[in-house]
Amino acid sequence: MPELPEVEGVVRSLAPAATGRTIRDIKVSDTIIRSKSEAKEAILKNSSPEEFAGQLRGMTITNVTRRSKYIYFHLEKDGEPHLLVSHLGMSGAWFAVRETGEVAEDKFRRHIHVIFAMEDGGLLVYADIRRFGELRLIREEADHPPLLTMAPEPFDETAAGHFLSMCKTPKYAGKPIKETIMDGKVISGCGNIYATEALFRTGIHPGRKTGRISMLRLESLFHEIQKVLAEAIEAGGSSISDYRNINGEAGNMQERLRMYGRKNCPGCGAETKRMTIGGRTSVYCPKCQH
Ligand SMILES: [Zn+2]
Repeated sequence: MPELPEVEGVVRSLAPAATGRTIRDIKVSDTIIRSKSEAKEAILKNSSPEEFAGQLRGMTITNVTRRSKYIYFHLEKDGEPHLLVSHLGMSGAWFAVRETGEVAEDKFRRHIHVIFAMEDGGLLVYADIRRFGELRLIREEADHPPLLTMAPEPFDETAAGHFLSMCKTPKYAGKPIKETIMDGKVISGCGNIYATEALFRTGIHPGRKTGRISMLRLESLFHEIQKVLAEAIEAGGSSISDYRNINGEAGNMQERLRMYGRKNCPGCGAETKRMTIGGRTSVYCPKCQH
């Protein structure tokens, strides 16, 4: 699943390719149309394919930004602002192409679900292999309340204080630390890969109860999460599973991960262990992490 650094990689490549362009028409795949007719919500979250297309026609993309793991397309039509919120789910990817045949890799080409035909003749294409992604057209963040409860951006100066105060609340104090740091209300955009890595780098056992970790260690954990995320953004993200930026490229952070996916600890050589926390597999070193 793309985490914050991967979404940042998409936004950095998407913003210059999409900003300033006006949408002429939208084409939605038969798979989505069928799913919507069965009252399922595949990808398009709050509108029918017809409504979605009707609303977006004539809108101009004024900017593309990231908030946590969401991509925000800032749009404007007749002087009114709108917001298209895109979540990549497990395997969503955007491509800027002249025709769909140019979409990199067959696995994405076979799962094109939304095509934005632009007035300049080019296309913005959303492909999603497993269809867990989301596209939601709203006017502002307040129209979709979960967007308002997200923790501050991890590089925001309020983020550390927010994290430490959430750790003290009864709700999180009793939870394993790994589950706490992967909760988007506590820290924005830290998923399984970077949580695993930051815990290893600070020597904290992923299953340790949040409330039983000293404030000093929690602070150093937070700073390590910031460092790991910054390092991963620099590396263009990790090419794990189906992450691609709009040029079909993936990053190389996976080569720098010291614990995620490792069979042996790079510190002491011990065999790593696995445990399930909050439904996700956590890898850790039984000797170096307490
Ligand atoms: Zn070790």
